[in-house]
Amino acid sequence: MFFWTHDVAAAPGRRGIRFAITSRHGGRSEPPFGTMNLGGRLDDPAAVEANRTAVASAFDLPRERLLFMEQCHSADVARADGPWEGAAPRVDALVSTRGDVALAALSADCVPVLLADPVAGVVGAVHAGRPGMVARVVDRAVDALVEAGADPAETLAVVGPSVCGRCYEVPEGMRAEAAAVSPTSATVSWSGTPAIDVAAGVVDQLSAHGIRVTWVPGCTRESPHLYSYRRDGSTGRFAGIVRLVPEDAS
Ligand SMILES: [Zn+2]
Repeated sequence: MFFWTHDVAAAPGRRGIRFAITSRHGGRSEPPFGTMNLGGRLDDPAAVEANRTAVASAFDLPRERLLFMEQCHSADVARADGPWEGAAPRVDALVSTRGDVALAALSADCVPVLLADPVAGVVGAVHAGRPGMVARVVDRAVDALVEAGADPAETLAVVGPSVCGRCYEVPEGMRAEAAAVSPTSATVSWSGTPAIDVAAGVVDQLSAHGIRVTWVPGCTRESPHLYSYRRDGSTGRFAGIVRLVPEDAS
């Protein structure tokens, strides 16, 4: 079910945090979505819901408290204070100060970013693809965390696995557009052609705020344990998930 997990223990004056990146394994979806698909519009909705319920349960939460977004490659952020009333918001970042929800960002090559200030008790989840990196969705999410009380100097960021720079060949103009926002993101592919390292750009953006980054190794296109749109076309979505541990939990 999980590709990577990391628990930050609670301490006096600091909340516990649970970070996770899901894998393709342990779910109900059939090929080409096999098996732990958590999103997209093409798979059997009942299988996706069963998978989401299993992941919520692993986070000790009922299904409706594992919160997803209607991701649209925007730089928009929503507060998440409880289960959605109706459809999920069309945003690409969520921020919460609640310990009774978990926030999820879906990916199949894009960069899932998880944020947490254990001192202030604020968490965030961000979907940052190439358009999101260029539109600075990470900066907007950090702004929203700060508005909710977070201090970038106390904030931890997890940058999840995504398509790596070598595997993300693009037209020269597209690389130039990304380089104008983050010079670090401009790179070359396995065949030496123009490419973008979106995650490097995202790490650059986080570092500019003084945020400590944990970059989870792995390329979606190269790992059979993760979903990759570039590799497979029609495929599922894995998720980066963050939860603030409730204060009464030991
Ligand atoms: Zn790669």
